[in-house]
Amino acid sequence: MPHHLFNAGNIDHYRDQMTRGVTAVADHVSTVSGPWTGAGVADLAGLVEDIDLDRPLDDIDAALDEIRTVYLDDAVWFHEPRYLAHLNCPVVIPALVAEVLVSSVNSSLDTWDQSAGGTLIERRLIDWTAARIGYDRGADGVFTSGGTQSNLQALLVARGQAYLAGDADPAESLALTASRFRIFASRDSHFSVQKSANVLGLGPDAVVTIPTDERRRMDPWALDQALREAEVAGLIPMAVVATAGTTDFGSIDPLDRVADVCAEHGVWLHVDAAYGGGLLVSTRRRHLLAGIERADSVTVDFHKTFFQPVSSSAVIVRRGEGLRHVTYHADYLNPRSSVQPNQVDKSLQTTRRFDALKLWFTLRTMGADAIGDYVDAVIDLAADGHAMMRDDPDLEVVTVPTLSTLVFRFRPAGLGEDDADAVNPGIRRTIAGSGNAVIAGTKVGGRAWLKLTMLNPGTTPGDIRAVLDLVRGIGHELLDELHATEGVR
Ligand SMILES: *Cc1c(COP(=O)(O)O)cnc(C)c1O
Repeated sequence: MPHHLFNAGNIDHYRDQMTRGVTAVADHVSTVSGPWTGAGVADLAGLVEDIDLDRPLDDIDAALDEIRTVYLDDAVWFHEPRYLAHLNCPVVIPALVAEVLVSSVNSSLDTWDQSAGGTLIERRLIDWTAARIGYDRGADGVFTSGGTQSNLQALLVARGQAYLAGDADPAESLALTASRFRIFASRDSHFSVQKSANVLGLGPDAVVTIPTDERRRMDPWALDQALREAEVAGLIPMAVVATAGTTDFGSIDPLDRVADVCAEHGVWLHVDAAYGGGLLVSTRRRHLLAGIERADSVTVDFHKTFFQPVSSSAVIVRRGEGLRHVTYHADYLNPRSSVQPNQVDKSLQTTRRFDALKLWFTLRTMGADAIGDYVDAVIDLAADGHAMMRDDPDLEVVTVPTLSTLVFRFRPAGLGEDDADAVNPGIRRTIAGSGNAVIAGTKVGGRAWLKLTMLNPGTTPGDIRAVLDLVRGIGHELLDELHATEGVR
């Protein structure tokens, strides 16, 4: 029997190899002392290119040694307190233990006959999440690979419902009607809304952008206006996407008021809580999601604010029947005659990982409140960071955070917008190259800004202060250089 296969006969080998893998990661991580070395594509491309994939190494130790150089040494470590760039979280250990089961047992959750236990566990977690949202027992959903897929599936269901409910001439094909469908989302909504519209064949003008208020929340009055205008123009409002936690600003659209507007117009409301979903378990801030229970569908990314390893997300619909818009039957897999619906009937995927087990282990060992406390800790941290920025004459911050992001820039008194634009991207690059911290950049009103995303409960206000000191220090250096070259010109 070839000893590379996972089976009972090779179990000593399995135990040995897995232990070596865990030991290598543990040994390496204990030497890590910053989020990133600063080594990028130019430094690493040659290392990866030079490896001869047709000459295997003899054993796992050699492979682990090799991967240290081409990957681990210069990996970006999301668990490091000064990693403050994107929505990547440090992960909880129970979920990592679950990963061993997920990939070793390797269940696929498409049908009951491939895993009854796994399917039941996933369904319990969907019910649990639905209950946290405030849905009743009619709700249903499925785990997905991420918020992008969850949003796509929610909008696919919305499209199906709009087509059935619409005034479309039954002789008119979906493709023809689709050109009249419109999706309404705030200007700060995630680009997966636009992508989904494209995948769904809705045409280039399908997403109508709704303005936001000074805290970057969708303006419900403007939404109402836009829906009216669309209706008058003979278009079909297919869905409104409210964002509970925008990727840049962490702002939460006014869910209750948006739900009122949707109810008045009879439009599907999807809440993209990919980021804000962690508030479902917050003990102090659950109220920030008030109104989410009125949504027709919700996206939650467990791999963001539930501290789960990638991938782990879910799409939940208030009325489970809606999921039939993704149902197709194959005689060999999920025949129409199946006694109970299979998960594949509700998913865009067929073969699908048992990602739900990670959340299960998390809830069974730590409990939901512990996750909620992490969420509250990072939001508290963002509030501290905001106060530091507000009191700093060299820094300018866009808005008060609701969740845990801060969009800001280095702009001492008297510095013009163009000079600020010239300096801020350089601050970000210099910080990354230094290996001390990783921060993000974005644009606001066409101008270059910097961004901190706080998703690590281990980051302290002292870390934030240190990073802001770096920003200021490097900012002044770059400004001096800029003025020197301007002087020369
Ligand atoms: C991250 C994010 C997404 C996309 O989720 P993925 O898991 O990266 O596919 C969608 N919407 C919002 C608001 C997000 O922050």
